Amino acid sequence: MTRRYSALSLFKEGLAGQTGWKQAWRSPEPKPSYDAIVIGGGGHGLATAYYLAKNHGIARVAVLEKGWIGGGNTGRNTTVVRSNYYYPESVELYGLAHRLYEGLSKDLNYNVMLSQRGMVNLCHSTAEMEIGARTVNAMQINGIDAELFSPEDVRRVAPIYNFSPDARFPVFGGIWQGRAGTARHDAVAWGYARAANRLGVDIIQNCEITDFIVEGGRCRGVQTTRGAIRSERIGMAVAGHSSVLAAKAGFRLPINSYALQACVSEPVKPILDTVVLSPGCGVYVSQSDKGEIVIGGGLDRIPSYAQRGNLPTLEAVIAGLLEMFPIFGQLKLMRQWAGIVDVVPDSSPIIGPSPLPNLFLNCGWGTGGFKAIPAGGTLLANLLATGKHNDISRPFDLDRFASGRLIDEAAGSGIAH
Ligand SMILES: Cc1cc2nc3c(=O)[nH]c(=O)nc-3n(C[C@H](O)[C@H](O)[C@H](O)COP(=O)(O)OP(=O)(O)OC[C@H]3O[C@@H](n4cnc5c(N)ncnc54)[C@H](O)[C@@H]3O)c2cc1C
Repeated sequence: MTRRYSALSLFKEGLAGQTGWKQAWRSPEPKPSYDAIVIGGGGHGLATAYYLAKNHGIARVAVLEKGWIGGGNTGRNTTVVRSNYYYPESVELYGLAHRLYEGLSKDLNYNVMLSQRGMVNLCHSTAEMEIGARTVNAMQINGIDAELFSPEDVRRVAPIYNFSPDARFPVFGGIWQGRAGTARHDAVAWGYARAANRLGVDIIQNCEITDFIVEGGRCRGVQTTRGAIRSERIGMAVAGHSSVLAAKAGFRLPINSYALQACVSEPVKPILDTVVLSPGCGVYVSQSDKGEIVIGGGLDRIPSYAQRGNLPTLEAVIAGLLEMFPIFGQLKLMRQWAGIVDVVPDSSPIIGPSPLPNLFLNCGWGTGGFKAIPAGGTLLANLLATGKHNDISRPFDLDRFASGRLIDEAAGSGIAH
């Protein structure tokens, strides 16, 4: 059984020379069958397994991951957590995630390093400010802690921005959410893994799903690189590879897959204590707890499964960064990487039953699913346990592409990540 982390256990281990820590999760052999299978050991898959055990008492669960847990987009993202979305359906979804994030370290007994340092989304013209005001009004009506910032407010939270009179992207104000911020990406994956393991979930790494077992028109299990594993309840949370698995299951999803990249600088002393996003410059930036400047940008709009990213997109992001913060011209970049994100036409996720009975979907989070992990896990767990939607997941069903009830957040909030 996993030991509880506490100040007392740290103290005792300090005295004992750090020799008593146990593995945070087991590495079991796959069993022939489970009550539920979750495909994908990213944040959403691990959270699903945890909430299946915690909320529904279903602990004979396997998480099947083709590589290592958190090695997909969960470990590649820029860690922005916020809930300032436009449509009521999104407010419910991301609001649930945000509230769960606020209690997550305690719930998981694992410090996910949530840092609610606030986030400002910059407006660079009068027209953008008018749209910003409309957006903030809508968010406030829906109960979100959004505020419209003046240029002086922006200067207060991000004094190193380029406020010179000849700046190419002058600041007219911004949209602020004070409860937004960042969380440590690896810790979210590891925290859920450890907590799920404690409740009896099998986390099986290096186990790729190669096909689905379909009998009598229903999904009855999966074929993997470690043999067949059967279950009557299968959830899929594989981020950038949802179309690949959907094709194996015999259906198509309204998804295009693109590389989204990011980079970090060498660590520097504390200089930026909020998250700043400029849609105009196509850049968002924060400083990690280690001191690195974490830099993200927009999608490379050429569909691809190449996780390495490319120089033209990176150059555009760095050019935008220097428009915002000329002071960063002195920084040395340390690492660059990409992840494959699945983008849906209305920029909202797909959560619900798939066209193949017994197989349920959690996908299409595009560039912004890290912040949604606790909600994505809760909702997929509920679907797997009950077979039914609740009020929060219902609007995100795949059937919205037939009914036309789209939730177009790209047009609504206009904010990525
Ligand atoms: C550069 C970048 C920056 C981002 N920044 C942010 C941000 O700031 N804020 C935010 O909210 N979101 C952000 N995102 C998006 C966010 O990272 C994702 O939406 C989220 O991590 C998705 O989590 P997941 O668990 O669904 O996917 P993943 O973490 O990718 O997990 C899916 C897992 O499925 C596994 N898998 C795939 N195929 C198979 C198979 N056949 N068999 C078994 N396993 C399989 C993969 O190996 C992977 O580990 C960013 C993404 C990127 C790439």
